[in-house]
Amino acid sequence: MNKDKIIRCITSDGGIMASAIDSTGIVFTAQEIHHTTSCGTAALGRLLTAASMMGAQLKQKNAVINLSVKGNGPLGPVVAVANSKGNVKGYVGNWDCPTEHYSNGKINVAAAVGKEGILTVMRDYGSGDPYIGQVPLVSGEIAEDITNYYATSEQIPTVCALGVLVDKNNGLVLAAGGLLIQLLPGATDEKIEKLEKNVAALEPVTTMLAKGMSVLDICKKALEGFEVEVLDEFPVSYVCGCSKEKIENAIRGLSDEEIKEIIEKEGAAKASCNFCNKKFIFTKEDLEKIISERKDKK
Ligand SMILES: [Zn+2]
Repeated sequence: MNKDKIIRCITSDGGIMASAIDSTGIVFTAQEIHHTTSCGTAALGRLLTAASMMGAQLKQKNAVINLSVKGNGPLGPVVAVANSKGNVKGYVGNWDCPTEHYSNGKINVAAAVGKEGILTVMRDYGSGDPYIGQVPLVSGEIAEDITNYYATSEQIPTVCALGVLVDKNNGLVLAAGGLLIQLLPGATDEKIEKLEKNVAALEPVTTMLAKGMSVLDICKKALEGFEVEVLDEFPVSYVCGCSKEKIENAIRGLSDEEIKEIIEKEGAAKASCNFCNKKFIFTKEDLEKIISERKDKK
């Protein structure tokens, strides 16, 4: 059922890298989990789409990338986390945020996210010493903010296009996708000019997907006039990976007194996962067992 995939291409001259993704299933799943209104679906969907492509660029097997957009709009924070396989998960602060539209009918994502705020990119290579980059938001529309992040924080000239098409009647996701093009050192002005012309003429990614174009077709269209080599192509999906064990480990991080306080006040510990909304309950007995096991070890 899930046909989401990423393709990564490079021009034969080695000057330009391009990734394209069909993230329709990922964004559909996100909407299903979080019950987001259209502006939340669009904002979260765009960030998930970007995170998946950026995660897929990580070379270390256990690496993770965390994108967070904290704007001054009513949607609250938008968070997306991807691994090096491009599998991704995310959430928004306010799933019930009302949706505004531009006069052309497009969802006004900036109004929901806010035009002022911070985009934080955290790459954790698995060594416990994450790399963190932060830039102020330039538009709140997400794609421009990613482009600006690469330009100012990493000095990589980048074109980023992200799209989420939502059914106006029922709020369901019809198509979602993205394109990330990056200039590698040594690209000549002539090539940059050619690329800029291509990009200017490019239709929205969701339009191209809706026409039946593949992710390869989209990369080739963006890199028209260049010789394109495919580096790799692989399926991606919305994956959470949370478990009762992981939550239990977090509880184990609390002191005996803190756990006893939860038992006294709440009677049990209830936790739900931000990313998949799965609920976990630790009964009084579970919690007491955690304390007594600790005493046994001492
Ligand atoms: Zn989860």
